[in-house]
Amino acid sequence: MTETKASLYVISGPSGVGKGTVCKALLSRDDSLAYSVSATTRQRRPDEIDGVHYHFLTKEDFMARVERGEFLEWANVYENCYGTLKSFVLEQLASGKDVVLEIDTNGALQVKKLMPEAVLVFLAPPSAEELLSRLQGRETETAEEIAKRQKCLEFELSQQVFYDYTVVNDEVERAVDEIRQIIARRHAGQK
Ligand code: 5GP
Repeated sequence: MTETKASLYVISGPSGVGKGTVCKALLSRDDSLAYSVSATTRQRRPDEIDGVHYHFLTKEDFMARVERGEFLEWANVYENCYGTLKSFVLEQLASGKDVVLEIDTNGALQVKKLMPEAVLVFLAPPSAEELLSRLQGRETETAEEIAKRQKCLEFELSQQVFYDYTVVNDEVERAVDEIRQIIARRHAGQK
């Protein structure tokens, strides 16, 4: 049997495109993947569990970890900080397990700079209009927050050119199948 090196898969794309839903479905269908739980300074939503959805940190704790170099990448997204804990990712990769990150486009490019072998998957909306209506339909953000996110959308979409793959999230299960095919092809040593 050929030994395959573990890979880091970065699932990224614009806010509201459905990264969370796609990643959850991907992880539920493939238990060989390790999900990296991000740290954030954002307020916990009622349905979120600390340590499962995010590690909820104070701003002070987050910045102290930045100072100590504990993050593989971190970014300010809509006035809250989000970051990927380096130790978890490196431990999993060293143990031979593929790791999945669900992060914003800024963080994805930071990862690619540090780890060029990371596989960047851009999750794209079927159309920009469709994404705007999805953002408006979400009840977790205020109108002001949605307006801010709309402003960023154009820039986020332009980042697609830096990615290894683009997967259109027209239907969750189809998008998951496509990501699984990408992973399978990488395992088989194909691009
Ligand atoms: P939300 O607050 O809706 O859970 O996430 C807001 C944005 O932050 C999403 O685009 C999400 O992908 C991104 N995000 C979540 N965790 C991380 C992380 O660890 N690093 C970066 N750069 N972005 C993250």
